Formats: sequence, C-alpha cells, structure tokens
Amino acid sequence: MIYYSEISLRTQADGEIVDITAKVQKILAESGITSGIATVFVTHSTCGITTVEYEPGLIEDLANAWERLAPKAISYGHDAHWGDGNGYAHVRASLLGASLTVPFTDKKMVLGTWQQIILVDFDNRPRNRTVVVQVMGE
Ligand code: ZN
Repeated sequence: MIYYSEISLRTQADGEIVDITAKVQKILAESGITSGIATVFVTHSTCGITTVEYEPGLIEDLANAWERLAPKAISYGHDAHWGDGNGYAHVRASLLGASLTVPFTDKKMVLGTWQQIILVDFDNRPRNRTVVVQVMGE
C-alpha cells in the first residue's frame, strides 16, 4: 500500500531549521500502514532534509559549517544569471540533499533517541514550503 501526504510550512529563511519529526509521525499514524518506509522529500531547490540531534550547540555548528562550505560573501554564477542573490542557498541545499528515507515498524519510525528529522531553509527570504511524505508498506 502507498499513502501520500504533504506538510505545509512557513519558514523565515536564512538557514532556519524546522524539526518536522512529529508531523511525519502523524502522517505515518494516519496512513494505517504498520511497517515499511517513509520518504520525506522537499519540493524546493533551496531547502534540504536530514536528521540531527536538535540542540542549540549543534544548530550553531551546522550554520558555521554551511558558511565554510558555501560562504554568502562570494560570487555565484546563479546570482549573475538570475540576480536573486541566493546562489549560496542553492549550493547548500544541493549538498544537504532534498530527501530522506526512514524505515518504520509497529507504526513507529526507527530513529535514534537523539535523531530528529529536520527541514533546513537556506533561502534569503521567508517562504511557504511543502514537504511530501510518501509512505510505502503493509
Ligand atoms: Zn535562486
């Protein structure tokens, strides 16, 4: 069986990190599927999905790492092409990736105790975002 749902979010951008674990778990419960995999996919080119231990120190570490990997204050071909000033956001999003697959059993995701599912919005302005959750199993 396959179950499809979406999560709608309003983000404030600039690397905002949103813990979406509870929302994914809610969709899993709605699906009626007991065991299988859930794919969590963000349909925007300046957002990423991953897991993290959601605590302030690590949130700061991640922000610093992204600044080292794709600094804001360098020139990007994307900005030269479109002029929207978010080349760094696209590069960071591509490095992080747009999706995550999580196994679940007994209607619960198999996540570590300190492992939350997060959406990161790297864009340079507030946006409305959609995260797709597709559940497959039996
Ligand atoms: Zn852009």
